[in-house]
Parts: sequence; C-alpha cells; structure tokens
Amino acid sequence: MNNFGIAIHGGAGTILKSEMTPEKETAYTNALTNAVDAGYAVLETGGTSLLAVEAAIIELENCPLFNAGKGAVFNSAGQHEMDASIMDGATLNAGAIAAVRNLKNPIVLANKILQHSDHILMIGNGAIQFAEQFKIKFESDEYFHDEYRYQQWQNVKGTASFQLDHSKDRPYLGTVGAVALDQHGNLAAGTSTGGMTNKKFGRVGDSPIIGVGNYANNKTCAISCTGSGEYLMRAVSAYDISCLMEYKGLSLEAAAEEAIVHRLTAIGGDGGIVGMDAAGNIVMTFNCEGMYRACRNARERVVRIYK
Ligand code: ASP
Repeated sequence: MNNFGIAIHGGAGTILKSEMTPEKETAYTNALTNAVDAGYAVLETGGTSLLAVEAAIIELENCPLFNAGKGAVFNSAGQHEMDASIMDGATLNAGAIAAVRNLKNPIVLANKILQHSDHILMIGNGAIQFAEQFKIKFESDEYFHDEYRYQQWQNVKGTASFQLDHSKDRPYLGTVGAVALDQHGNLAAGTSTGGMTNKKFGRVGDSPIIGVGNYANNKTCAISCTGSGEYLMRAVSAYDISCLMEYKGLSLEAAAEEAIVHRLTAIGGDGGIVGMDAAGNIVMTFNCEGMYRACRNARERVVRIYK
C-alpha cells in the first residue's frame, strides 16, 4: 500500500499572523516538520501506525512550544497534570492516562497501557506505579517549568477562569496529536496535553477520553482533537466523526466538517481535528483562527498554521 501517511496538530485557537513574529513562525514550522517527519520515517520503513503516532508525539512533547510534556500549562495549584491517549484502529484497543505528573513522555505510558494492560484509562499514582515497571522516564518539576506559561498562569491565578493555552491574549500553542495509516492498512490516533491553564487540579479534559479527544477504527477513521475540552466532551467529537461516516455514509471530510464546523460551533466550542481514513485521505479541520498542523504522505508534506 502506498497510501500510507500521517497528520499531526499542535493545538488550535486564536492563532493570528498579526501576532506572530517571523522567528516564532519559523520555530513552529520547524517543530511541526520534525514531528511529522519522525512519524513518517516509521511508516516509510514499514513500521506500524501506532509507533508512527508515538514517534511524532514524542517530538512534540519534547518541544516546549507545545502544551504537552515539556511546556505543559500550569493548573490552579501551579502543577503540570498531563493527559494522553492512544488507540489502535485494527483492534480498537486503547491506552490512556489522566492527571499524571512528572512523566517526560505521557504518550509512551499510554502506549504501554495499550500494549500491556487489560485496562484502558489509568490516573494519578496508579498510573505512575504502572510506569515504574517499564523504566519510563520521569523529570523534575523544573524540567516542565516554562517562564512564558508561568506568566500565563499568573494572569488568571486565583480566579475561577481557566483558558486554552492558545487563547486570545497569548495566541500560542496547544495540545498535540497525531493520526496515521501504515503500509499494513491500519489506522491509529494519539493525543497528549497539559490541558488548560489554571484548570482545577484533578480536572481531566477530552484528550484521554476515548471517543472524545481521540478515536481510531479501521472501518472508518482515526481522529485526534484539540480545543475546549469541556465542549469536545459534550459533543463526543472524535466518535461523532466516525459515526457520521459509519452510519450516514459521509466522507471523512464531510463528517469532520459536520462535527467540528457545525456541531461543535453550535454548542460554543472552539477546536479542531486531524483525521485520516483507511484510503489515506487526510483532513485538518478547525472552527477557529488557526491550528498548528502538518501532514505527510508519498505525494507531499504540508505544514500550516493559519486558516
Ligand atoms: N483539549 C485540551 C483540554 O481541554 C486543550 C487543548 O486542546 O489545547 O484539555
């Protein structure tokens, strides 16, 4: 099969060219290019879509420009609580973690849960104990400290407000995710996030919830979401796209448009998705000003930020 490929995102929101410097734009473009290439390299050599998704997300988690791993936002207690999930479209098996601290690469633990546990979603200390069996890398609180994100938190600290990382006053960054179709015809999806700035500690968003922030099924599509988690949860967005394809016969593009541009918008949510179907079609759909995004297949590599 030569229709294999990968699509990634680094968050959606109020991302305006007028607020971007050329240096920042180059930094984002380079980071997205590195991540999409890391995933594509796995696919090109016959690796699985799960490994490609993991490889791309590790790159994004290690880059402080994005709100996942290093660079994760601060919660109301000044901590970094991270959520991540990964799903295999061939088996419908999945692994996810929520509200986990100090893990260098949350997506790696989500994938270990997929591979080695009968459970799907693990949280807090239990997830950390599970990680300890696999020599998964932990990092100190200082590793996750990012001065820009700290200032972002200071602006809303002590209030009831919580915000998307890429909200209006700081039009940057966000949750990361990837979807891939491999040469064996299998789809996978993964999503990883620090959540929303000043979220209450213990708050879990859409990203680790299978069917909401992440979904993969070889029969339909692989989807990774970003945006306001409380709305994506109400809309069950990732599974909604799959259902629109399965039950209504919509194409991936039409299903993503319906779920995100119409249904998510109608309930007041901001966000976007990257998606792939089993034929290798790729969509990168969002209902806000911009989404950090990239995709690559045998024909092209696309890297974009704005509408
Ligand atoms: N969806 C994430 C959350 O609500 C935030 C984001 O996508 O930036 O936790």
